Amino acid sequence: MKVLVINCGSSSLKYRLINMDNDESLAQGLVERIALDGSSLTQSVNGKQYIIKELIKDHKDAIRLIIEALLDVKYGIIKDLSEISAVGHRVVHGGEKYAKSVIINEEVMKGLEECVKLAPLHNPANMDGINACSILMPDTTMAAVFDTAFHQTMPEFAYIYPLPYKLYTELGIRKYGFHGMSHEFVSARAAEIMGKDIKKLKLITCHLGNGASICAIKNGESVETSMGFTPLEGVAMGTRCGSIDPAILTYIMKELNLTIEQASDIMNRKSGILGVSGVSSDFRDVEVAAMKDKNKRAQLAIDIFCYKVKTFIGAYSAAMGGVDGIIFTAGLGENSPRTRAKICNGLGFLGAFIDNIKNNVTGKDAEISTDNSRIKILVIQTNEELVIARDTIKLINKNYC
Ligand code: ADP
Repeated sequence: MKVLVINCGSSSLKYRLINMDNDESLAQGLVERIALDGSSLTQSVNGKQYIIKELIKDHKDAIRLIIEALLDVKYGIIKDLSEISAVGHRVVHGGEKYAKSVIINEEVMKGLEECVKLAPLHNPANMDGINACSILMPDTTMAAVFDTAFHQTMPEFAYIYPLPYKLYTELGIRKYGFHGMSHEFVSARAAEIMGKDIKKLKLITCHLGNGASICAIKNGESVETSMGFTPLEGVAMGTRCGSIDPAILTYIMKELNLTIEQASDIMNRKSGILGVSGVSSDFRDVEVAAMKDKNKRAQLAIDIFCYKVKTFIGAYSAAMGGVDGIIFTAGLGENSPRTRAKICNGLGFLGAFIDNIKNNVTGKDAEISTDNSRIKILVIQTNEELVIARDTIKLINKNYC
């Protein structure tokens, strides 16, 4: 069985075709600059790259090109569209309505529409992808898999903000959390590596990419996470400020005479690692600036980031009454031994000791704690696409049983 996974943004679309018999990725690709000058599709199959540069005027055009690329005699991987058993779509926000993945039908599309106000930048693009697929692959079952769903198990005292309660009941303002598929995947894999039942573990998963979030997972369920109503809350990120004193917002708006859009732009696109370092939002550049050029602000940005992550690890250990495993994942978590070491340095009071030799690892799953560390520290490669594909298959099987 093959599942096509679609992750649709407003101007880009990532896709992957997965063989569910062995979890193998058969093809993966990226459509960029949809509806803009210089649009293109890049697909990789068995290490062979296929690049199409043509005007891709909308998401339907993008899906049409993807189908053509997958079917291409020389660069493709399938002979007939019917080989694709189902399509799994990543949907950023499922609100409170979707605590689990669902098969897409008309009613679900209405439900997704209701969630648009919670994620106005993301959900409409996700829906464009779904609509385009349903036109071009009308006979293929499709599922929606949500970034927020995994966190729907958080207790009320973790997800309600101390604001007037009617902001929750009337506007849906509460903590939702994001990166759910990644936290779910790496926690399950961690339990497997640790040889323990996830239902008996307390884990802290650190998804450290351009966007970063930390999650406390008790007995296999998310009980707390650092991103909130939006993906702006939590640790400092590439360009996002993370949690700050909310009064700063009104203060800078007043002092600098900013519009809502300008203030939002500062917090979402000009802050975080980029804002503090003034160098880049990419950790690799910032690490080079700090190490080679002795750039003090670059070092400060790294110090702030690691410190914030460390404080969340401490807080979540308290929230769960202990911790058995700390997991690092995503671009930075998987590839930066220096960042992992800096975050874990000083966590000995919890019983977490990183092994500097084992920590010198990238590109594979590994245990990086010392043999006498009570808490296991692990690096795990995330695979959000596989979570989407597995959920999609599970739903199809349930539907036809
Ligand atoms: P997202 O999916 O949120 O865009 P990723 O998970 O791809 O982000 O992570 C991107 C981040 O990972 C970037 O900040 C990048 O600098 C960092 N990163 C990737 N590889 C390395 C590396 N070898 N060393 C340090 N940082 C890295």
